Amino acid sequence: MEPLACGHAAPIAGHACAHLVEAPGAPYTVRFTGQGQDHDLLCDDCDSPTAPARAELRPICAACQQAHLERLDDLIHALGRPEVRTRASALRFEHREHSLPELESATLLALEPLGSAPRSQWLAVTSTGDLLRLELEKPTTTRLGAVPAESLALSEPLAVHVSDCGHYAAVANATGSHGVVIALDSGAVTMKLDRGTYHVTHCQFPLAFFRDGDRTLLVHGTDWNQLDISDPSTGERLTPRPAEAAAAATEDSEAHGLDYFHCGLSVSPDGQWLVDDGWVWHPVGILTRLSLRRWLHENVWESEDGPSRKSLRQVEYFWDGPRCFVGPRLLAVWGFGGTDRTLFAAALIIDLETGALRRWFPGPQGDFHCDGQFLLTSAGDEGTAVWDWETGERLHVDSTLKPTAWHPAARCFVSVIAPGQLRESRLAGTP
Ligand SMILES: [Zn+2]
Ligand SMILES: [Zn+2]
Repeated sequence: MEPLACGHAAPIAGHACAHLVEAPGAPYTVRFTGQGQDHDLLCDDCDSPTAPARAELRPICAACQQAHLERLDDLIHALGRPEVRTRASALRFEHREHSLPELESATLLALEPLGSAPRSQWLAVTSTGDLLRLELEKPTTTRLGAVPAESLALSEPLAVHVSDCGHYAAVANATGSHGVVIALDSGAVTMKLDRGTYHVTHCQFPLAFFRDGDRTLLVHGTDWNQLDISDPSTGERLTPRPAEAAAAATEDSEAHGLDYFHCGLSVSPDGQWLVDDGWVWHPVGILTRLSLRRWLHENVWESEDGPSRKSLRQVEYFWDGPRCFVGPRLLAVWGFGGTDRTLFAAALIIDLETGALRRWFPGPQGDFHCDGQFLLTSAGDEGTAVWDWETGERLHVDSTLKPTAWHPAARCFVSVIAPGQLRESRLAGTP
């Protein structure tokens, strides 16, 4: 077999311009041909209206093609669109309706899964600030406490996070400055949350519970460019930076100064990694990961400039997008492209350990969830789709299912269909 332009004796997987073949680490554009996921790779100079035709491009192998796509930080544009692949299956959603008369006069501001047991148990926040536990099996409604009226604005969108242990809820204004942590056993406010005011309207309030051994801890924003870890039972801060560095004039704090707006957070199912979907000026969204263990036990500056902090992808004018974990360390992230203008519906499967793009496929749109096997995506206009994230095929679409929330342990969606009327939806059938 004759070697290809990339130097490898292998089948032709695609084509690249001669400049990219010469400089395989250069910024690049992907031009989809419209046939499946076939695409050409072009350098910055060749990415123009007079871009070279296929005949002028050089053949490259699958490994070299993948090596380019793994460099998501270097992606300039995505031109054209790949085809979405489907596979027939017997999957379907089965629905069950529940009446909760106590909710008939309530307006729900938020509905979140409660607990890590496979029970359909939910935490609701009402427009009067009440925190309610909804048990759909029985069904019953139990008042657990209330958000103090002065602590945040209930008229503004809320970010509500419940710890896996089921003992704590963090409730904050999603694009505001303040929030509280409430112990769900007693209803007591155990912590107040404050992340300052700088550009908060452009950043989801950073909040994520995680487990460290048998402790439940909370990562939360304490300034536009600072996160901290606290014990939600007492509010004790566990990541105090050295006191001498707190003064802005000292060399140490200058050295660790971070030019990054923290936004929505996710924690890997194994509790090792924190994912931050924040941004930097001009603006560019930079999806980032860092080691929670290193931060908590070895280096208080880990979230500023620790060695485990790594950029996973960059997109101009886009951050805080849909994402979910599909494996212990595999993160599915929405959107293929280098700018908000060219991003298109797709799932990128990123390995947090290496930071590499494992695979990607076009089609997924809306909120991302995983039931342990499939990627489930819900978009207001398209309903809910089921994807085999290993093959990239769409297995099922239910255009009528536009759920309110997803419960990862109970593996079901819930939809508020009328005051006091909730509907559960579970995936059934075989793929
Ligand atoms: Zn070129
Ligand atoms: Zn090659």
